[in-house]
Amino acid sequence: MSFQKRSHVCGELRPHHAELTIHLTGWAHKVRDLGGVLFVDIRDRSGLVQMVIDPAVIPADLDLRTEACIAATGKVVLRSESLKNPKLPTGEVEVIVSEIQVLSPSKTLPFALSDEEHMGNVNEELRVKYRYLDLRRPTMYRNLAVRASTVRRFREYLNHQGFLEVETPIITKSTPEGARDYLVPYREETGLWYALPQSPQQYKQLLMVAGVERYYQVARCFRDESSRADRQPEFTQLDMEMSFVDQEEILTLVEDMTRTVVNGVIEEFGLAKEPVADFPRMTYDEAMRDYGCDKPDIRFGLPLFEITDLVADTEFAVFKNTIETGGVVRAVRYPSGSKLSRKDVGALEEFTKGFGAKGMASIALGTTEDFPEGVALPGGLVARTSLSRFFSAEQLQAIADRAAAESGDLLCIIADQLSTTNDVLYRLRLEIGDRLALRDPKKLAYLWVVDFPLVEWSDADGRWSSMHHPFTKPKDSDLDFLESDPARVRADAYDLVCNGSEVAGGSIRIHRPDVQQRIFNLLGIDEATQKDRFGHLLEAFSFGAPPHGGIAPGIDRLIMILTDTDNIREVIAFPKTGGGADPMMGAPSTIDPQQWAELGLRKA
Ligand code: ASP
Repeated sequence: MSFQKRSHVCGELRPHHAELTIHLTGWAHKVRDLGGVLFVDIRDRSGLVQMVIDPAVIPADLDLRTEACIAATGKVVLRSESLKNPKLPTGEVEVIVSEIQVLSPSKTLPFALSDEEHMGNVNEELRVKYRYLDLRRPTMYRNLAVRASTVRRFREYLNHQGFLEVETPIITKSTPEGARDYLVPYREETGLWYALPQSPQQYKQLLMVAGVERYYQVARCFRDESSRADRQPEFTQLDMEMSFVDQEEILTLVEDMTRTVVNGVIEEFGLAKEPVADFPRMTYDEAMRDYGCDKPDIRFGLPLFEITDLVADTEFAVFKNTIETGGVVRAVRYPSGSKLSRKDVGALEEFTKGFGAKGMASIALGTTEDFPEGVALPGGLVARTSLSRFFSAEQLQAIADRAAAESGDLLCIIADQLSTTNDVLYRLRLEIGDRLALRDPKKLAYLWVVDFPLVEWSDADGRWSSMHHPFTKPKDSDLDFLESDPARVRADAYDLVCNGSEVAGGSIRIHRPDVQQRIFNLLGIDEATQKDRFGHLLEAFSFGAPPHGGIAPGIDRLIMILTDTDNIREVIAFPKTGGGADPMMGAPSTIDPQQWAELGLRKA
């Protein structure tokens, strides 16, 4: 089918194009029939413009329905003042069509593309099944464009800094990042398997041994974990590694790169974000103490605070039992929370129970008018709390002081083992931040969390496991405690956090085979397994391995933040749905009997 090539793109038409005869190609975004005259919004990737088609120019057999692919010729005219559409960049003009052609008709769509506001109601499975249609929506195209621009800018920055882009294998051997591997059977010999990389970690370290010195890759990583709104079985990292560096040099480079790239993207797309400026630092211990997590959202304050010492000699059974069994009593301040009804406070308690709390105690602070029945505290505030049966006004005052509480606050108190208490209060603090609109979407609050513990004890496995991965270097000063007190050993490991999400993680690596072996031993990896799984790395380290370190910023997470979405699928062209499936391609799928036989596999 022949058609007139376009002379303009739809989204560029403005009043200065008036009177021009132009050719457009695109899709029929909206088709309205007003007494025979067709009003058609034609859309291409640049935007859309309204066309007016008189019945006289409409061919008798024209099958022009929404999302048909079309070509049109017409004249640009100015719209009359009352018909201008200020919401549309092309809203001051329209195109009076002289010729219209359907290049490819469209069936009725499974969901409307022109109705962005109601996309939230469309079943997501359906959107992914018809992804090629979903991606026609301007919002989705823009997400892809933001992503492409971000990746391009990262490449430009790193190329400029002397980094070499190197591709590493996808079909390879297991490289642990703490998740389950995706496995691929080896056809030549039954019983042997490849694994898809959870990250290119070992390869990038081997590239340092190879003398590459500065490496990066826009790397796909594969982790067989249950997918969640913020996780996909395959995702993309900007994987980086450098030789002869210390932690400071890596952090400084990543800060400069982030500023350059993110601020460039904000400007290019006119994103409603303030430019990135500071990168404050916090130790892991400080983050856990003040925010109950290792990825605090620091767009707002409200740090958690400890009151175990203030309530230590209580008769209140919940606190008493918790403290006696080694637990803690900690709390967070909810400004204006004292106004909540008992029912609302009950709902908040239910929220905490959803994250494992056994219950939540609270102290509402106000005035005598607010709480005529309340307990008058020495400092002038009046408290309403069920704790008043167990605590004196002075003790309540001490708690209020610890909180730096003001009239109107609700102090939310959790008593449990440290990890549960922290986890509950971490989530409660974010909930309070959301309720009080303190998590300003315009802000990009970056933060380094440093000095992570090297290992953590896993009760389930009965052994130590790496906080990051087994290649992370312990701090030199802590090396002596590796065997005697592993919990005390800190690592040269750092995470970059933005708005409460981990957006990059990295470390200085071990480059000495003896230290690497001590770590494997600590992790309960016996010598035979060390040799089998990591022999190549240990051997490589014996050939003059340079000191090295790196980091891997997550691309998907960054694009989610920039495009204001909580759903990772919105920033990936062809994502998997909940169960790790691709309903569009029909993957995973069965294989032919011949393929089973070739692989030497039998159904269980
Ligand atoms: N390989 C690590 C990860 O995937 C990142 C790094 O340590 O560079 O999280």
